[in-house]
Amino acid sequence: MSNTLTHILKNECPNCHKGKVFKDKNIFLNFGFPKMNEYCSHCNYKFQKEPGYFFGAMYVNYGLTVAQGIATYCVAQMFFEQTFDLRIIPIIAVAITLLTSFNLRFSRLVWIYMFKDYTS
Ligand SMILES: [Zn+2]
Repeated sequence: MSNTLTHILKNECPNCHKGKVFKDKNIFLNFGFPKMNEYCSHCNYKFQKEPGYFFGAMYVNYGLTVAQGIATYCVAQMFFEQTFDLRIIPIIAVAITLLTSFNLRFSRLVWIYMFKDYTS
């Protein structure tokens, strides 16, 4: 499992672990729209299996965003006296906005790995 997470974070093809899914060198610090390779450059694995395939990655992205929002709240509320200070909301908004680009790429990679054919 941790091996799979390493492959996802390294932007590697789910089939051969040698080709790259995204054309971007760094999936963490890249604020442009993600540019994906259609096929793996090494094993010719097709990443987008059908039109609208990555629609489901939106659910992964949503879960990630909610988890990051809750984590940001838990960290930020330690610096305020009240349990729910309204000044925490913009902090959560900034954190989520900064993580948007990473979440988009990460959720697509998770989606590809979730629906990889593990029988072959
Ligand atoms: Zn490959």
